Amino acid sequence: MGDVLVVGAGPVGLTAACQLARLGVGVRVIDALPEPTTESRAVSIHARSMEMLAALGVVPRLESLGRRIAALEIVDGPTGDTRARLDFGGIPSRYPYLLDIPQPDTEAVLAARATELGVVVEHGVSLTALTQDDTGVDVTLATPAGEQTARVGWVVGADGGHSTTRRLVGAHLEGAFHGEHFAMADVDVATDLDRDTIRMFAHRDGIGLLFPLRGDRARIMFLVGTPEPGTAPSLAEVQALADARMDGRVTVSNPRWLAYFEIHHAQVPQYRHGRVLLAGDAAHIHSPAGAQGMNTGIQDAANLAWKLALVAQGRADASLLDTYQDERHPVGATVVRGTTVLTEVGTATGAKAAVRDAALFVVGHVPALGAAAATTAAELRVHHRDSVLSVQHGHRHHGARAGDHAPDPEGTAVPVEELLARPGFLLLVRGAVDGLEAVLGDLGSVVSADDAVAAAYGWGGDGMALVRPDGYLGLVADTVDADLLRRYLTETLRVTAPARV
Ligand SMILES: Cc1cc2nc3c(=O)[nH]c(=O)nc-3n(C[C@H](O)[C@H](O)[C@H](O)COP(=O)(O)OP(=O)(O)OC[C@H]3O[C@@H](n4cnc5c(N)ncnc54)[C@H](O)[C@@H]3O)c2cc1C
Repeated sequence: MGDVLVVGAGPVGLTAACQLARLGVGVRVIDALPEPTTESRAVSIHARSMEMLAALGVVPRLESLGRRIAALEIVDGPTGDTRARLDFGGIPSRYPYLLDIPQPDTEAVLAARATELGVVVEHGVSLTALTQDDTGVDVTLATPAGEQTARVGWVVGADGGHSTTRRLVGAHLEGAFHGEHFAMADVDVATDLDRDTIRMFAHRDGIGLLFPLRGDRARIMFLVGTPEPGTAPSLAEVQALADARMDGRVTVSNPRWLAYFEIHHAQVPQYRHGRVLLAGDAAHIHSPAGAQGMNTGIQDAANLAWKLALVAQGRADASLLDTYQDERHPVGATVVRGTTVLTEVGTATGAKAAVRDAALFVVGHVPALGAAAATTAAELRVHHRDSVLSVQHGHRHHGARAGDHAPDPEGTAVPVEELLARPGFLLLVRGAVDGLEAVLGDLGSVVSADDAVAAAYGWGGDGMALVRPDGYLGLVADTVDADLLRRYLTETLRVTAPARV
């Protein structure tokens, strides 16, 4: 019986597959498309996603295909006046920028990494049916060679907004189905606007978005009325929209992809359905404003993969998977709410527009507010402090706490991010490591914390911090007590198999 079937080789399914494979889980990845999509779709990778993708070793390849974006500006469409600028330069991350890269390139990099890790991505293979019992999931697949059945331990449904997996487990998206439509264009642009900035043009007829890619290439989008079914915008129509809403400063040419895209704002109530886990667009769909969709999905995958690896390998109780729902569902709900508001704000008219402009003026002119908004947009505020997996022991000094993303301060001998590229947990220790390695065993690595790391946790004396494979802090303690670590692993994570040394 295969360990895990990942349905969908989009960015979310591929991230999950890479993480599972790194952790030693047998993975099969299928995708209904005969070959990967060429549609640019999601084009922005935020700092928190970059931190997680760094653990997979794919950042240099992504960087070579993308463009670093320094800021996001909200512009008054008709006049071209900048209402607010969110600079990413000051955000607390090793990636103080946003990387713009077409989704097919992101997928190609992740697929190449999956291949290096021994995962075969099977194209032209669709999930069509599934039933589950206490020990596994029976799946039916439509393949080029005909129907196939298989039994797997677990299924990750990363099959996008029209998810078959979601339908097969009887789950439904709940939310608002306004049927908003965007005209999308993957084109070359001539513009005097600088190319290191994403711009959202506020306009009473609908927002316009400009995402610069490498070279002259850019993705632009406009919120539009309901188009005729089965049609696509022409280049001339895209130009007319740009002229009207982007202050006449953008000229388009060389279309690679022109399409209408309908969006809804919705989420499934449950991410876990027994042995089937939903992630990415299969679990939440929303407006592309803020470029959060793919990022939120990548982070779902990072959260889920290490938990599923422990459970699929028979090393932790399956209840650990409930914490995937507990930790990630609220994040998805916040993203759905936030992107809905952002879309409405961008299209406000009359008194609402005046309120918006006043609020944006404040954000744009109070640096602390601008920095806070940029940090939020980069998804760096996501934490799991309220999770049952976040345990703070002893006196809490200033500094990082359980549930936060592990700080990666400047001045460390080896960046924490580099340490996280080792598979498994990372135990940072200030004090004697005796006994800790034996408790952690092959679940991860024990590393002595240097002064920079100790300062980030406020450790004057002894301390230890267990960093989960997704980069969040599970246990933070002001002691190096091996028994405390053992209890965290067995009682909180519910690791059942003893750590092998
Ligand atoms: C046309 C379009 C335009 C978009 N534009 C933007 C944008 O401008 N900005 C933005 O932020 N986001 C955009 N998005 C959303 C963004 O692409 C998603 O948030 C992101 O791709 C989520 O990744 P995912 O892996 O969850 O799903 P997807 O990328 O949708 O991947 C799902 C995969 O599952 C496969 N699949 C589906 N059903 C089955 C099945 N039964 N069996 C096997 N495989 C199956 C599909 O072929 C697909 O490859 C767009 C999406 C679409 C569809």
